[in-house]
Amino acid sequence: MSSLPFDAATVLGAGLMGRLMALGLARAGCQVAVFDAGGPEAEGAAARVAAAMLAPLAESAVAPASVVRMGHHALARWPALLQSLDTPVFFQREGTLVLWHRQDAAEAARLARVLEHTGEQVPALPAMQRVDADRITALEPSLGTRFAQGLFLPDEGQLDNRALLDALRSALEAMPNVRMHWHDARSLDDFSPAPNERVIDCRGLGARNQWPSLRGVRGEVIRVHAPEVALTRPVRLVHPRYPLYIAPKPDGVFVIGATEIESADLSPASVRSTLELLSAAYAVHSGFAEARILEIATQCRPTLPDNLPALRQPRPRVLQINGLYRHGFLVAPAMLDMAMELLATGHSALAERFDLPMEAMACTC
Ligand SMILES: Cc1cc2nc3c(=O)[nH]c(=O)nc-3n(C[C@H](O)[C@H](O)[C@H](O)COP(=O)(O)OP(=O)(O)OC[C@H]3O[C@@H](n4cnc5c(N)ncnc54)[C@H](O)[C@@H]3O)c2cc1C
Repeated sequence: MSSLPFDAATVLGAGLMGRLMALGLARAGCQVAVFDAGGPEAEGAAARVAAAMLAPLAESAVAPASVVRMGHHALARWPALLQSLDTPVFFQREGTLVLWHRQDAAEAARLARVLEHTGEQVPALPAMQRVDADRITALEPSLGTRFAQGLFLPDEGQLDNRALLDALRSALEAMPNVRMHWHDARSLDDFSPAPNERVIDCRGLGARNQWPSLRGVRGEVIRVHAPEVALTRPVRLVHPRYPLYIAPKPDGVFVIGATEIESADLSPASVRSTLELLSAAYAVHSGFAEARILEIATQCRPTLPDNLPALRQPRPRVLQINGLYRHGFLVAPAMLDMAMELLATGHSALAERFDLPMEAMACTC
């Protein structure tokens, strides 16, 4: 018996948002059908290649306060979401370390001012700390004294994106009221939901035909196995062209990323990007010299003109969730909670708390 005002839902897209929505709807008692153009490994999803850092303060360098507030909400929500899954998923909140080389000190000073301003706008966030070489060594002993200064952003988090996608898939496949349809690309035009049904469109960039202002922002990332590198938390390197990071995953794996290029080009990574990413990693820690390259991947972040995530209702009983851009893991729990509020009541109090434009939220689902 559904606790929502409908009892069947079709979810298009089983990337990050689609899997979370399908689980939320199924747990609310709906019959759920999920369609994805790709397979269970999420090979067509941005979520598969992401670093999955949960860094609201660090991201405020490129994101407005509403995204920061959603990220703050998510950091508290992820543990409960993960605990509800049968398969363990790596999640930690060891903070973010921001470092720079001497020649990038001016850019680092600008970044510190932006982060301080964010702290004033969102005082619930743990405050940024300026750290010297000794403190950097205490936080990450393997870095030695290579960096004279840095910023430490306490409590920021990260999770294992692929383990999460897999744990969500197995939770969904185990539910008797869920049917997964892999390798089955669909369009909104394939569905005319009856009054007791809803369609939730979570196709990321795959929804471009029905949401023409969506664009792709290309990101290239490299996964390496580097058992000699002992970094315990994501390290961001201030860079004049795009913020670079090294995000540790379990078992000596690191994600080094990411480029940010205004293009929906999904062709393989360029030599230039690969050289820059690997050089940056080597400059942070010489142990990366002996790392083994596991994968060089390209994906596009589904992005709207204001770079903000959005929920919209293109027609009755159809809800679209998209535009998660470079913050999908950071904002997904907030988007899930807002979408469930909207589907249950036609209104979202959370959206007001996050200061998201209400016209984008209006829903008569
Ligand atoms: C390089 C990179 C690094 C990133 N790092 C981070 C990070 O550190 N932290 C963070 O918070 N976010 C990060 N992100 C962003 C995050 O990955 C995205 O915001 C998030 O994955 C978007 O989720 P989504 O479910 O909307 O789309 P996706 O995850 O892309 O999923 C869309 C799904 O829809 C399916 N689909 C497409 N068309 C159709 C169709 N016609 N029919 C059925 N199914 C279809 C696809 O196969 C896919 O499975 C990163 C992204 C990239 C590219």
